[in-house]
Amino acid sequence: MDAWSGPGHLDRCESKRLDADWITASWADPSALLLSVDVSGRVGVGADLAIAEVRPDGKYDPQRHYLLGLSAGRPVFVESAEVENGAGLRELMPVLADADRELVVAAVALVQWHRTSPHCGLCGALTLVTAGGMVRHCPSCGRDRFPRSDPAIIVAVLDADDRLLLGHQAVWPAGRMSVLAGFVSAGESLEQAVHREVGEETGLRLSAVRYVASQPWPFPRSLMLGFVAWAVDTEIQVDGVEIESARWFTRDELTAAVDAGEVGLPSEASIAHRLVADWRWGTLRVPGAGQ
Ligand SMILES: [Zn+2]
Repeated sequence: MDAWSGPGHLDRCESKRLDADWITASWADPSALLLSVDVSGRVGVGADLAIAEVRPDGKYDPQRHYLLGLSAGRPVFVESAEVENGAGLRELMPVLADADRELVVAAVALVQWHRTSPHCGLCGALTLVTAGGMVRHCPSCGRDRFPRSDPAIIVAVLDADDRLLLGHQAVWPAGRMSVLAGFVSAGESLEQAVHREVGEETGLRLSAVRYVASQPWPFPRSLMLGFVAWAVDTEIQVDGVEIESARWFTRDELTAAVDAGEVGLPSEASIAHRLVADWRWGTLRVPGAGQ
């Protein structure tokens, strides 16, 4: 099971976080931890990219200090601040243990949401942080707003010969290739988004689309929903705008291209990496697609 497919390690304390006294006591807890995330989403770390062991100091400020929850019984807060030794999530996600990975991803996602959502989307008034950082309340119209994610699909497209489709985006460095991805549009189902994105970017039609797994991807606030799909045909017509080129790979062809340095695959932190790895290991299947 991959890191994101089981139950979470972080107790997000949904009911306790409404108790201001409990949050204040948690802030004063000698075991409490305070994470820092800077404006570019970098997290304060110590040696060997371990999360910096910083204790909350001074008075608890509900507008600045957000409670992530309890991690192994330990209260963990996050604040938006300059960090001296910072590391980005792409660097941290592959090296941290599951519980710590979850903490830094939640920390970056929450801080970025607060930073970009100070005003009420309905009436424009300045909102106040409540519920230990999980709600922004509008004192003018009374509306509560919650941290949000933008759903995006990512899909490994296979053909009848079990080849994998990889595309190269115009904005990427030369040689970098990955499975196709795109944001879900308004009023669209995930499956419809998969059909549309693959159609727009490569002209391919799909006969089966099945969900595989998901992963938070706070760059700045995506939730990646991973699919595997079966192509009806194999003739590729790239859109030339987002996708510059695309091609089918057998496992041997991909291994040879990677070994020769002609193709660079997605970083280990990403669900794209997992989809490609599952296909290379022969464990990615399209149920009901005749495999
Ligand atoms: Zn309002």
